[in-house]
Amino acid sequence: PPAETPQIVVDAHGLPYLDSRLPVRKRVADLLARLSLQEKAGQMTQAERGALTASGDIATYALGSLLSGGGSTPTPNTAEAWAKMIDGFQLRARVTRFQIPLIYGVDAVHGHNNLTGATIMPHNIGLGASRDPGLAYKAGAVTAAETRATGIPWDFAPCLCVARDDRWGRTYESFGEDPALVDAMETVIQGLQGRPDGRDLNRNDKVLATAKHFVGDGGTEYGSSTTGTYTIDQGVTKVTRQQLEAVHLAPYETAVDRGVGTVMPSYSSLDLVGDGQGPVKMHARADMINGVLKDRMGFDGFVISDWQAIDQIPGDYASDVRTSVNAGLDMIMVPYAYKDFRATLVDEVKAGRISERRIDDAVSRILTQKFRLGLFEKPYADTSGAARIGSAEHRAVARRAAAESQVLLKNSAGLLPLRRSQKVYVAGSNADDIGNQSGGWTVTWQGASGDVTPGTTILEAMRKNSAALTYSKDASAPTDGHDVGVVVVGETPYAEGVGDVGNGHDLRLSPADRAAVDKVCAAMKCAVLIVAGRPQLIDDESLAGIDALVASWLPGTEGDGVADVLHGKRPFTGQLPVTWPKSEAQLPINVGDTSYDPRFPYGWGLTTLTEVPGGGAATLRALGIAAAAAERAGAEEAGRALVTKARLLVQHRAAGRGITEAVAGPFAEADHLLLTGRYGAAVRKLTAAYRAA
Ligand code: BGC
Repeated sequence: PPAETPQIVVDAHGLPYLDSRLPVRKRVADLLARLSLQEKAGQMTQAERGALTASGDIATYALGSLLSGGGSTPTPNTAEAWAKMIDGFQLRARVTRFQIPLIYGVDAVHGHNNLTGATIMPHNIGLGASRDPGLAYKAGAVTAAETRATGIPWDFAPCLCVARDDRWGRTYESFGEDPALVDAMETVIQGLQGRPDGRDLNRNDKVLATAKHFVGDGGTEYGSSTTGTYTIDQGVTKVTRQQLEAVHLAPYETAVDRGVGTVMPSYSSLDLVGDGQGPVKMHARADMINGVLKDRMGFDGFVISDWQAIDQIPGDYASDVRTSVNAGLDMIMVPYAYKDFRATLVDEVKAGRISERRIDDAVSRILTQKFRLGLFEKPYADTSGAARIGSAEHRAVARRAAAESQVLLKNSAGLLPLRRSQKVYVAGSNADDIGNQSGGWTVTWQGASGDVTPGTTILEAMRKNSAALTYSKDASAPTDGHDVGVVVVGETPYAEGVGDVGNGHDLRLSPADRAAVDKVCAAMKCAVLIVAGRPQLIDDESLAGIDALVASWLPGTEGDGVADVLHGKRPFTGQLPVTWPKSEAQLPINVGDTSYDPRFPYGWGLTTLTEVPGGGAATLRALGIAAAAAERAGAEEAGRALVTKARLLVQHRAAGRGITEAVAGPFAEADHLLLTGRYGAAVRKLTAAYRAA
């Protein structure tokens, strides 16, 4: 504990809840029975650390939790400063009569992105492209270790949104448009939390995870609301019950099975076709939070509101409070109105409009996680893992993730991988910009261009692999004499909303980027890398002039991973996690649509892997038999490996015959089968494509 530990008001020693040998259930019951209504209401209150009018408010209002919203960082923004800041708050919580520790939360959505110098992973859309659940697990583990080492035990991640419309500014927070893909990547929860029963949560390298935003955040309609055109973020998801279950709810079943500790409802409204209610804010939907999440799915963690989200519920503040708490919210991210919220909550209970039982349930859920996290035994930061923050070991995971996330969309005449001897001309707005390649939620909420945090840009990484390289951001340097051009273009950082206002929301490249592509591709063979949180529209003419096209997503701080595949140190193996549209008019476009005519289909991705296993129908037959056996045995890793082998074999053959487009459909279907664990059927699907080729 820090040196200036204040005098404790009541010595709680000897009380049963402090006895770590007792089961958590008993400790919770013991503590709950001692708390006043005011103290219980305090536990349900989460304030923003910067909103505290006095640090003494933590004790005065018996606050249960604090958060740092995006960019609410200490100065200097170092691991030590984070730990010291949070310990300072914890000291204040510990002077309350039962010394209940605070639970501090942040959004660490692609690594511990709040901290300068942390390892920044690709955003989720890139992890989805990797199709590698083992990688998602590792990314989660690195994030947890770096976050907890700064004294933070709680992460508002992962986003389980199933992004159905690229115009949504949070598309990159999604693993993809297919619920089966989102499902498969939920290994990240184990990476963050450890085992599903919660017994790893008290480790100094694990954090409590948050599945968000429940439910349907990725399904909002574009421009559907009466309030304006760009309402897709925090808008309305209008679906049938069956669509809701199959697309948006399915990932939450998995998250609950995986023991996710908290769930955050969505800002959006749900309009369930046929239920006669019209759009209702998710924070007010008792049928979904109490009914589906808690009762049906058996979620036993706690529900944390989104930022000021209860204010969006129609009615006065008292009605916001009662509606949300009665709907099943356990803790409210107020974040400024902590005094009002707590007082109103107490009043509503006294007036009998919220039952004491509901309050006890909410507080029990919150205390359970605090006990599991070991906060009563070790309330202060354990910074012994701080040396691993941004370490080579952690950056190696992010580098691998960046490499596996790259999707090769087009590769005429095998332009990629590049060869060391080639003279390379590099241009474009995103070639040499850590901020742009990391995207939003990097140090600040919105993220920013430029040197926002230490890392390796794509250009810097390429220099290590090229004997001769010219860099000219705007392609103004002479283009003659070069063998190959690499133009790295895309979006500038944004978070939430519709994103990237500068590019006009229309998902097209900026004029400067288009000019750079046109110039370089007219002068030499060229590869274009799109560093963006979502597909960017490319017309037929531009595409024809581009020899190789790569979807790089938002790869994070480790540009070396991108260079690894560009230069052939690793093969391209990524596959599109979302459909790549031809035009904005096609949006929303998703695999399974009746008229589906995308630029590149869901699951698309070429490989530069030259060595393919064996060959021919006999090999495929053997792979199919083995895959079916793996499926029966529930051997996930083996099943996946076999399907991947089959896939590469078919892709190699199709590429050899120049008919890659023709096998796209079966590939997407095989991909879906793979994600749903039907390995045998996936190989059969691929075998049929092989025969057709
Ligand atoms: C976002 C959440 C986030 C919260 C706290 C909100 O604006 O919607 O995803 O967890 O802020 O920073």
